[in-house]
Amino acid sequence: MSSGYNRMKFQNSSDIKQLAEERFLAFLKEQGARKTPERMATLRCVYEMVGHFEVDQLYAKLLKESPGISRATVYNTLELLLKAKLVMKLQFGENRAYYERTIGAKQHDHLICNQCQQLLEFCDPGIQQIKDQMGEILQFHITHHTLILYGDCKKKSCPNLMK
Ligand SMILES: [Zn+2]
Ligand SMILES: [Zn+2]
Repeated sequence: MSSGYNRMKFQNSSDIKQLAEERFLAFLKEQGARKTPERMATLRCVYEMVGHFEVDQLYAKLLKESPGISRATVYNTLELLLKAKLVMKLQFGENRAYYERTIGAKQHDHLICNQCQQLLEFCDPGIQQIKDQMGEILQFHITHHTLILYGDCKKKSCPNLMK
């Protein structure tokens, strides 16, 4: 139970959504970019997604709320959200990526299966220790990190096991 490995749960409160909206508005202003209904709808939708998602999933959800929104707008807004650090991108394969929101998500890292692309999360306090230690030794104020472990999963449903 207390091995330090937990699947993280996401909070889903309107406070988080509101905070994200405020930050996005400030970012748009700072960049001299316009506040459009499509951009705001994309942000809201991102913050309503549970866990990780691919662009297609986001786009399908958005079409229900904002019919007529273009895929280009969604991609473009995701780029803005990345720049604003309101979303993060987990690249896998050549052209595929998972996205997830940043505010309201607990610190965690990822594993991605090379075969079935399933994504798992883990939280290990050892990572924080490394950050503290390396920051101390190298005199470095560490702000953030990225860690993705790639491998072959051992799930029965994974195509990896068929071979
Ligand atoms: Zn797999
Ligand atoms: Zn994650």
